[in-house]
Formats: sequence, structure tokens, C-alpha cells
Amino acid sequence: RKGTVIITGASSGLGLATAKALADTGKWHVIMACRNFLKAEKAAKSVAIDKENYTVMHLDLASLDSVRQFADNFRQSGRPLDVLVCNAAVYLPTAKEPSYTAEGFELSVGTNHLGHFLLARLLLDDLKKSDYSFKRLIIVGSITGNTNTLAGNVPPKANLGDLRGLAGGLNRINNSVMIDGGEFDGAKAYKDSKVCNMLAMQEFHRRYHEETGVTFASLYPGCIATTGLFREHIPLFRLLFPPFQKYITKGYVSEEEAGKRLAQVVSDPSLEKSGVYWSWNKNSSSFENQLSKEASDAEKARRLWEISEKLVGLA
Ligand code: NDP
Repeated sequence: RKGTVIITGASSGLGLATAKALADTGKWHVIMACRNFLKAEKAAKSVAIDKENYTVMHLDLASLDSVRQFADNFRQSGRPLDVLVCNAAVYLPTAKEPSYTAEGFELSVGTNHLGHFLLARLLLDDLKKSDYSFKRLIIVGSITGNTNTLAGNVPPKANLGDLRGLAGGLNRINNSVMIDGGEFDGAKAYKDSKVCNMLAMQEFHRRYHEETGVTFASLYPGCIATTGLFREHIPLFRLLFPPFQKYITKGYVSEEEAGKRLAQVVSDPSLEKSGVYWSWNKNSSSFENQLSKEASDAEKARRLWEISEKLVGLA
């Protein structure tokens, strides 16, 4: 049978390119889990994904009710779940004031981490039941949350501190919009959320890999300087960032190439090892990358897990 893969945020950028790469093999049915139904349908048509190979389903990660509803709807579709890709993200580098999710969490961490955390927890049972030749949960990470790299050292750096802001509810009421309890900074909130993504992947691996046989993985697909992720950035940045990445840092990858990389983590039998953060070298071959000290801190991962459980209503 065909494999079934859910990709969150498949309406643009990396998610769409991955949906296209997998659907085109004819071996995958892609569930495009998107907040804007019409945009997702148009996106699928714009890259000519065969109608037989995808379904758009509504998911707004900035609402925990919507996440629960999505999980129910998916189950009702009767499809098995073989791979879940947590890809969607918001990035608000120029925001002066925080925005909030439906539950009142700061929007970047609320969407990128908490929404995905609940989704992955709810769908883990479905993944467990898969009888496909492999089953995987993939959370898209980033180099920007990784302070052991050059890009990760551009200020403001990611830093979760002692998680006091998260423990305080990550909301405006307790003055705790940032995970470390500091002042709001949109660029830092995004980087923090990516560290959470990488910590969550490793904690899933520690808690569930042996018991379930599910492969848990994260990746840095390269700098895809052309995606909508930078839509909130100032126009001059958007103009200069792609050539800067292409010619100066040489970390640039096209959306198509990045989509192929993520598709590899979904479907390549050789990328079966669990707990790995994948990256690609200049020849586009994958390797197991090292995470920064904070992004591989097992004690922090455990605390992040426990606080996140409380915030999303699982504990
Ligand atoms: P895009 O902005 O192009 O795509 C982000 C996707 O997330 C869109 O489909 C967007 O939906 C969706 N999304 C945002 N908020 C929500 C929400 N509340 N509910 C559901 N979906 C939502 O960015 P990229 O393709 O670049 O980013 C994809 C992933 O890649 C992210 O995890 C990002 O951190 C990561 N990444 C990107 C890099 C880059 O250089 N671009 C580098 C490293 C990692 P909509 O279309 O409706 O806006």
C-alpha cells in the first residue's frame, strides 16, 4: 500500500516542496495539514500535485482545540498514519509586541512548539499502530537555534534559561511571554521555539523509541532564503538575504532541494536511526549533525516536556 504522511504547514515553502517530492513518487498519500484551506488547495495545484496523492485537512496550530479537532478528523478519515512531519512555523523578527495563540500563549513558541507538541502526542498512538515498513515522527529544526554554529551565534541567541517564563504560562498575564522570562523579542522567540523542537524530538526518542519502534528525527535542511518564513522581515532584508546566503555563507538551498532533503528523512530506508538531527554537506549527502549544548541538554528536555504537558492540558 501507499504510505500516509501528514505534513503541517504544507501550503508553502519547505512543506509544499516536500509534499510535492513525496506525492510525485506515487508511493505516498500526503495529508496537507494547513490553516488556510483555499491557500493550500491553490498551492497544491500550483506545483501540480496529482489529486489522487493528497488531501487538505484543516489545522491551526495556534489553537489547541483545532489541534484536537484535527486529530479526530484524521482518525475519522480511516487512513493509517505512517509518518508525521511537524514543519509549520511562524517567525516574527520585526514584531515590537507579542501576539498570542487562542489559549493566550506567545505566538511563536505557542505555534511552533506547543501546537506541534500536542499534535505529536495525540497522534503517537496512531503512529504506533502503523504496519508500514517504518514509522517516523519528524520535527523540523533549525541551525538558528543552535549556538554551536556561526548562524546560531547571530544575536539575539536562543536561550531557554531556567524555563521560568514557560513555567509561568508563556502569557501576558504573568509577564512571562519569553521562555527564559526575559523581555519580548520576536527573533529570539523563534529561535527558542526551534530549540524546543529539537529538545522535544530527543525526549520523544528517549521515552518512546524502544517501546514503539517509531523513528524520531529532526533536521536542518539548509537555508531556504526564498520561503514565506521571511515575509514579516523588512523589504531590504528580503532583497539581500537570498544572494547573501547564496554567495557569502553558501548555505543557500532552493525550496526544491530542501524539499528533497526532508522527503529523504520521511522515506529513505537508510535514514532509519532514531534520535538524529540530520544535516547535509556541500555535496548534498546527509550526515548526523551535533546539536548545541542547550539543544542536547537531557535535563532541560525533560523539564520542557513536563511543563509543556501541563500547558497543553495533557497532565
Ligand atoms: P513558510 O513560511 O514558507 O512556511 C510555513 C508554513 O507554516 C506555512 O504553510 C504556514 O501557513 C504554516 N503555518 C504558520 N502558522 C500556522 C498555524 N498556526 N497553523 C498551521 N500552519 C501554520 O516557511 P518555511 O517553509 O521556510 O518553514 C518551514 C519550516 O522550515 C519551519 O519549521 C522553519 O522553522 C524551518 N526552517 C526554515 C529555514 C529557512 O531558511 N526558510 C531554515 C531552517 C528551518 P500559511 O501558508 O497559511 O501561512
